[in-house]
Amino acid sequence: AARAAGSQLMIYTPELDERADAAARLGADLRHSLDDGDFRVVYQPIVDLRTTRIRAVEALVRWHHPVRGFVSPVDFIPIAEDNGLIVELGEFVMRTACHKFAGWRALGPDAPDYVSVNVSARQLSEPGFPAVVAGILDECGLAPAELLVEVTETALFGGGTAVHAVETLHAAGVRIALDDFGTGHSSLGLLRTVPVDVLKVDKSFVDEITAGGERAVIADALIRVSNGLRLRAVAEGVETAEQAAYLRELGYEYAQGYYFGKPVPDPDFSPLTTAKI
Ligand code: C2E
Ligand code: CA
Ligand code: CA
Ligand code: CA
Repeated sequence: AARAAGSQLMIYTPELDERADAAARLGADLRHSLDDGDFRVVYQPIVDLRTTRIRAVEALVRWHHPVRGFVSPVDFIPIAEDNGLIVELGEFVMRTACHKFAGWRALGPDAPDYVSVNVSARQLSEPGFPAVVAGILDECGLAPAELLVEVTETALFGGGTAVHAVETLHAAGVRIALDDFGTGHSSLGLLRTVPVDVLKVDKSFVDEITAGGERAVIADALIRVSNGLRLRAVAEGVETAEQAAYLRELGYEYAQGYYFGKPVPDPDFSPLTTAKI
């Protein structure tokens, strides 16, 4: 910064270095924590807006860092993607979630229909990924349709191996969701080229419902797309009764959010009270 005439890059270099160092440290910690078992999986209910029953859960990873305590996946997933540890971490999440799901069968009619697992671009582009998934399903005694894989549009952007993996999984009966739907550049275009069963409509569109102004213009458009293509829409990030009621009016079948339940290690699958919706 002392050399004012220097390249603009110099101004940012120290900060970038610091960030890179912090990321490298967290990356190294990830490795230790994978060995030490510091990761857990929590499950957030996905509710049928008409019956008020929990029909599915989304598995979300949690890191209990030995020194820092809770670290958000928003902060460590990108690092795990960069250093490749997401492959091992993602397999841990998938295996844990599938075993957990198998245990819920004992709940009988209250048991969820499927478990949703987030899968990153890096995992999808591992050539052996579909075989790893098939192995886990087999090991846990799950039917392929009891697993739903959530992928983001950016993960599919590269085409090639990632898209091929999605096709292979889908052909095997595993269901596919496009996560954060509507936030990317080519959401609609992807629906023509990638086999998709579920659209997870991003929280930002659900938030519009209570934000006033244009209300739920996009949430309304996205449910029409979903119905037109015979997909299931899941509204994400529902925080209020008003949002839940409005989504149901728009024709949304499933929803997820703090209003219905936060992600927890052991969800309670007994029916919610109708007052919830
Ligand atoms: P996502 O897949 O879009 O997951 C939804 C996120 O929204 C979760 O955050 C969830 O706890 C949060 N959420 C749910 N309902 C509400 C709500 O009503 N209000 C608000 N404000 N937030 C809500 P989380 O668990 O911190 O995960 C953040 C992101 O990290 C995920 O976004 C996903 O992209 C990534 N992630 C989490 N677990 C995994 C994993 O096992 N594998 C991969 N590849 N990514 C993961
Ligand atoms: Ca997700
Ligand atoms: Ca999402
Ligand atoms: Ca997200």
